[in-house]
Amino acid sequence: MGDKAYQVVIVGGGLVGATVACLLAEKDISVALIDAADPTETWPEDSFDLRVSALTLASVNLLKSLNIWDDIVQLGEQRLEKMCVWDHFGSGELVIDSADAGEPKMGSVVENRITVLALWRKIQALPSGDVFKSTQLERFEVNDKAVDIQLSTGLKMTAQLLVGADGSNSKIRQLSEIKQYGWNYQQSALVATVKPEKSHQNTAWQRFLPEGPLALLPLREGLISIVWTSATETSDAYLELSDVEFCKALAEASEYQLGHFELLGERAAFPLKLQFSSEYCQDRLVLIGDAIHTIHPLAGQGANLGLKDAQVLVDEILKAKKARRDIASQQVLRRYERQRKGDNLLMMSIMDGFKRLFGADDTLTQFTRSTGMRLINQSTLLKNQICKYAMGH
Ligand SMILES: Cc1cc2nc3c(=O)[nH]c(=O)nc-3n(C[C@H](O)[C@H](O)[C@H](O)COP(=O)(O)OP(=O)(O)OC[C@H]3O[C@@H](n4cnc5c(N)ncnc54)[C@H](O)[C@@H]3O)c2cc1C
Repeated sequence: MGDKAYQVVIVGGGLVGATVACLLAEKDISVALIDAADPTETWPEDSFDLRVSALTLASVNLLKSLNIWDDIVQLGEQRLEKMCVWDHFGSGELVIDSADAGEPKMGSVVENRITVLALWRKIQALPSGDVFKSTQLERFEVNDKAVDIQLSTGLKMTAQLLVGADGSNSKIRQLSEIKQYGWNYQQSALVATVKPEKSHQNTAWQRFLPEGPLALLPLREGLISIVWTSATETSDAYLELSDVEFCKALAEASEYQLGHFELLGERAAFPLKLQFSSEYCQDRLVLIGDAIHTIHPLAGQGANLGLKDAQVLVDEILKAKKARRDIASQQVLRRYERQRKGDNLLMMSIMDGFKRLFGADDTLTQFTRSTGMRLINQSTLLKNQICKYAMGH
């Protein structure tokens, strides 16, 4: 028997794990949230988080339901009203405006550290939530009634349900021997924060280049967060450039849509991979977020998919609690798995297909792509559908 007993122990307090913790603790389920880092640490005003997420309206509404949205806005949120996509080949251009779908915005762009900090402030204020920072899960053992968990600090606890929200290199997935499949794209996403010469107009700009898309996301205070996908060698070469040379290359690659740039802070590159698990749960154990799916950041959907996982898992746990059934039964966990697997696989294959379509450099594909974009741009109905999809409907 461990030192302390919880109904749910969540390992990984990123966007997804911390959301699950808040949603459950708010409904008086006793929760322990464990993270290897310290997500409550604040930061100097002139620093930037290179992990930024474009949250759909559905994700924003989920965070609003936790009453933390005002906190997020105060820490630094940027509204997203339009998307402008264009191709290096031909004259294809697609502009999606939330106003055309009758909405004031299609989502918000927020640095991950801001959303995570707001979630941790919330969970710390809830009587049913305990947090364990700067500590890792060491091992766990499942028995009939509970899971025994040991942390790297030596602390022991038990849970009815163990949730693995520990990201794409999930230790829980590895220890549970849940298989994962996938491949590397031999590409990297270079991320940086820059100050543009012109206004970003609350618009997400995306240009498809021969090696991959260049996304310029609007960020707080008129700044831009870039995600520039290229072959790994090209990304490495961009990292080697001086700040001035890098900004020049970026301005050229974005066809000076936002003028020249000034680099703020560091640049970094993430290797891109597609990764998915065949199983989302085992006895008294469930995986969620990047621990079960890592997708191409092409349309920035990873965090949004994880938040949908969180909502569905919590709904199923609360239904079981209300019916006085075991919240960690296979019935409950499989119901979550069934509801989320289809949606996650669909998004992964759309993104993978997009990646191949926009990565192809033969003339016929380029022509089809450019013409297709122009045709979609002329159809209000199709554009409204895309807009609704981007909002998370
Ligand atoms: C370049 C790039 C751009 C992206 N842009 C977007 C975007 O615009 N929109 C979007 O929706 N998504 C985007 N994503 C994806 C998004 O960042 C992820 O999908 C999301 O952060 C996943 O959240 P998570 O909570 O599942 O995992 P993570 O954010 O990885 O969190 C995992 C947490 O677990 C902790 N942890 C790990 N191991 C242990 C352990 N053993 N013990 C205790 N704690 C542990 C870590 O410290 C971390 O806090 C992007 C990704 C990349 C690489």
